[in-house]
Amino acid sequence: MTTSVALHEVRAGYGTGQRRVTALDGVSAEFAAGTFTAVMGPSGSGKSTLLHCAAGLERPSGGTVTIEGTDLTGLNETALTRLRRDRIGVIFQDYNLVSSLTAAQNVALPLRLAGHKPEPEAIAEALESVGLAGRARHRPSELSGGERQRVAIARTVVARPAVVLADEPTGALDSNASRHVLDLLRGLVDGHGHTVVLVTHDPVAAGYAERVLLLADGRVVDELSEVDAGRIAARMAALEAAC
Ligand code: ADP
Repeated sequence: MTTSVALHEVRAGYGTGQRRVTALDGVSAEFAAGTFTAVMGPSGSGKSTLLHCAAGLERPSGGTVTIEGTDLTGLNETALTRLRRDRIGVIFQDYNLVSSLTAAQNVALPLRLAGHKPEPEAIAEALESVGLAGRARHRPSELSGGERQRVAIARTVVARPAVVLADEPTGALDSNASRHVLDLLRGLVDGHGHTVVLVTHDPVAAGYAERVLLLADGRVVDELSEVDAGRIAARMAALEAAC
């Protein structure tokens, strides 16, 4: 299997001197192309930092992050920005939509920023793929939380990234809206061969992945595969009790 994302001995932290906090303490992990992996762990275990390093949004203080064979840590800012734009999609809990733009304009924005003239058909298709064909002209304030997150997913997939990194994308959603978003993420893997990495604290969400990485204190402490939400919840409870 081709490796899409690889972290090797990644170290990262915040602050300096005595106030230095270690967030990742030598994390190595590989994410094969066309797979769905969840990253779980207690609060503060380094999940978001791992995702940000994988996305090139944060530079590790040590180790390497490789996307489709390219080492991000060796790239200058311009090359990193281009690789992020072309190959990586990031989805956050709070959607990050532009409130003054319609759903269609939000979906088109990354393409415009990249200097392309988006085809209206491509935008319509992206919105249709997330079940929002009828909402193209709505602004974020006129959409529910679940619909906003689906616009964010449409905005991500319209650029056809190889890798989709999602940080608690269902954290602010009710269970119905969450299910819809998770089905869409699963569909990106099964239908389109994207590689999805999902940071979540929710065992039900992690149950959509075929593999779960567990972090504690900035290290990978366990890996589960093909497990259901019940077993994931039990393993998380044991981990939290040990921390
Ligand atoms: P998680 O996503 O698992 O909750 P994070 O990656 O957000 O964990 O954080 C890992 C560690 O780094 C925690 O101890 C956290 O307090 C610390 N941390 C995260 N972001 C910052 C920041 N901007 N400044 C200082 N410390 C931070």
